[in-house]
Amino acid sequence: MSDIFDVLFDNYIQSKVAGLSMLEAQTASRLTGTAERLQALEQKYERMHLVAASLWSLLKEHTGLTDTDLKRHMETALAREDQNRGTAGSMLCEKCHRRIRKSATRCLWCGAAVHSGDAFHGT
Ligand SMILES: [Zn+2]
Repeated sequence: MSDIFDVLFDNYIQSKVAGLSMLEAQTASRLTGTAERLQALEQKYERMHLVAASLWSLLKEHTGLTDTDLKRHMETALAREDQNRGTAGSMLCEKCHRRIRKSATRCLWCGAAVHSGDAFHGT
């Protein structure tokens, strides 16, 4: 009598172990995919950062524009985006009180963490 229960229990345990092994393999695959996507995004970011810094350096060298001019234009662009959307897409940083996107998790001006930022807010 106990033999049939042992067999059934063993089968049950083996099916659970097989399910967990499959889940573990799927999870490892997802993590590997996520790490690869993150690495690709970091490479794109580094490339875009270098291109933007180079372009800005070139512009300053040939036009006489200053960092202050660039910051003023960035703030103007944010304000214009707010007007075009019809709803406020920005907010003020709690630390430096400059305008930042609602989707920001860090202030682009001072680097402060933005606790009320919503990374899923439309960008
Ligand atoms: Zn700030």
